[in-house]
Amino acid sequence: MGRKLQQKPIKAVGLISGGLDSTLACKVIKDLGVDVYGVYFAMPWGCCNKTKALEAAEHIGIKFISMQLDERYLEIIRNPKHGHGSALNPCVDCRIHMFSRAAQYMKHIGADFIFTGEVLGQRPMSQQRHSMKWIEEGVGIEGRLLRPLSAQLLEPTIPEKEGLIDREKLLRISGRSRRDQMQFCKNLDVSQYTQPAGGCLLTDQHFARRMKDTLKYGYRNFRETVALQWGRHFRINDNFKATLGRKAEENESLLRYVHPDDYVMELQNKKGPTLILKGYKPTEEILSIAAGLIQYFSKFKNNNPEIMNYYLFTKKNIIKNIIATKLEESKITAMQI
Ligand code: SF4
Repeated sequence: MGRKLQQKPIKAVGLISGGLDSTLACKVIKDLGVDVYGVYFAMPWGCCNKTKALEAAEHIGIKFISMQLDERYLEIIRNPKHGHGSALNPCVDCRIHMFSRAAQYMKHIGADFIFTGEVLGQRPMSQQRHSMKWIEEGVGIEGRLLRPLSAQLLEPTIPEKEGLIDREKLLRISGRSRRDQMQFCKNLDVSQYTQPAGGCLLTDQHFARRMKDTLKYGYRNFRETVALQWGRHFRINDNFKATLGRKAEENESLLRYVHPDDYVMELQNKKGPTLILKGYKPTEEILSIAAGLIQYFSKFKNNNPEIMNYYLFTKKNIIKNIIATKLEESKITAMQI
């Protein structure tokens, strides 16, 4: 018996990033009379924006739920079952993780299926026919993961077979071009979406090196990995790492994400980078190298060694001093992550 005869609302959980594909997918399903719960994953390393996603959800009139990534995600980056993409991006496992959490939410609210804005053939790693199948199997809700934008090119899902969703009203888009999606958005009066962008920072080789270093030497909480996106990073030795802001906003961001056990160091006149030193009980030598990094990246690079202020973050009122070691470029390069 069709759901409509039972007079129960059809509910679905849709992944929404605020981008073109996911916004269009939500609109297509919403227009079929489905009660849509848009789930947004706060990916801390770029690629989507919560405000934009919320605006898109409001624009098309669906509910909006935000979920956070946490330490579990770091272990996926470290060791993804389906491997990495061009850098450290575990795209297939990333999707399995996000969709699995959306599937849990689907069960929690008694929804009928989940759906995404994935398009067959759009991305080399995660949106090929075989990898889309792996993702569905990995999520463990076979038949209840709908891809409305490419549905007519894929096997019918349970909601289509049961008549909850009219397959004829779903789309048959494939490939990398976004032309069809843009045209559908125009036809459906959807204008609130962000322009398609590349992947998250995990696809960037430079950022990937920082993340690998952190996974190798250890992290104490998820926030420490969020802060990898800002500043210059240096591994002084196995036990100590320094990060310096490149501009005032980065200094502020690094301070906002500092761990209570970190040391904060800056020039006495505060005109230069703020440095965050991670590691337990640094020696004078380590502190002096950290001070040297600040001087090297300040406008006082060619001055005599400068004196820096530093403090343990939890003891801000106990400020100590250290004289910078003059650092050669080769030493800086050797430490750079
Ligand atoms: S690009 Fe980043 S956010 Fe997107 S699927 Fe890959 S790992 Fe996940």
